[in-house]
Amino acid sequence: MLRIRNLSGYYGRIQALRGVSLSVRAGEIVALIGANGAGKSTLMKAVSGLLEAWDGIMEFEKVSLKSRKPPAIVDLGVSLVPEGRWIFAPMSVRDHLRLGAYSRRRRSDTAAIERDADAVMELFPILRERAAQAAGTLSGGEQQMLAIARALMARPKLLLLDEPSMGLAPLLVEKIFATLVQLRDQGLTLLLVEQNARAALRIADRGYVLETGRVVLQGTAAELLDDQEVKRAYLGRDYREFCEGRD
Ligand code: ATP
Repeated sequence: MLRIRNLSGYYGRIQALRGVSLSVRAGEIVALIGANGAGKSTLMKAVSGLLEAWDGIMEFEKVSLKSRKPPAIVDLGVSLVPEGRWIFAPMSVRDHLRLGAYSRRRRSDTAAIERDADAVMELFPILRERAAQAAGTLSGGEQQMLAIARALMARPKLLLLDEPSMGLAPLLVEKIFATLVQLRDQGLTLLLVEQNARAALRIADRGYVLETGRVVLQGTAAELLDDQEVKRAYLGRDYREFCEGRD
């Protein structure tokens, strides 16, 4: 579904991606893990059309993403749940959902958009209770749910999620990740960027590890969870191993 070959990405003279190749097949959850500054968000921006300077090949369903602006990429079926959520504080929850359907406004009638808003609120029932409330008054977890729900309103085929677990308590992370699995089971494809490598790899089918703009490791999620280097750098050792001084 998504094919990236030899992608380099730049902010002026700074090169943030260095020859990245990765692919996402339809129906998969693919996790992209890596430390701060590894280039994970830059890759998400590149796929969504928000990174101006890049070279290499990026294709979505065999269509090149070269020179395509973000709205055109949303139209192809790719939606981003951005890092930091980008919620508009005074705007209501329901208006955020309507905004998520902006790209469909010429194709879908208002009733269809309202029906979809009801459907995404089924996924996160707390949003229904808060439908008329200003989004700035929601908790961090509720705002993350809203950011995901808003992205779904564009009816994407591929959902890009940039650090959805950031700042959330473990129970909420579990709830949100369970919903991501539910979405995958309903046929959505997901590319998930996470610093919380363990949580991401637990729900992913495959994963890639990014370090200073390069893919340094890739494999099935089970292989990565079991990899000594991934364990050391991204998963931490458990306490018993630490006491026994084992690697
Ligand atoms: P984090 O997990 O901290 O969000 P990341 O893996 O998402 O990190 P990126 O945000 O993609 O990392 O950053 C990759 C590199 O690009 C970093 O060295 C960062 O300083 C640099 N960078 C990111 N955004 C910009 C920008 N707008 N201008 C210049 N450099 C940038």
